[in-house]
Amino acid sequence: MKKEYTKDDLTIIWDHKLCTHSAVCVKGLPNVFKPKEKPWIQTENDTKEKIKEQVLKCPSGALSLK
Ligand code: SF4
Repeated sequence: MKKEYTKDDLTIIWDHKLCTHSAVCVKGLPNVFKPKEKPWIQTENDTKEKIKEQVLKCPSGALSLK
């Protein structure tokens, strides 16, 4: 299952199947990646640059950019 989250022209894709729940994203940018909330990715809470940077650090490839 893939889900998309947007911020202006930035689209983040999260592939549930690939996520290893390593919490790299949650520790790196806790104001945006909130696994206990819905939606769990809240793009309004930081800049596009910061979010992009964090997405690229996902070790499993579950997070990617469109
Ligand atoms: S960093 Fe990637 S693999 Fe780890 S919890 Fe976040 S989305 Fe899942």
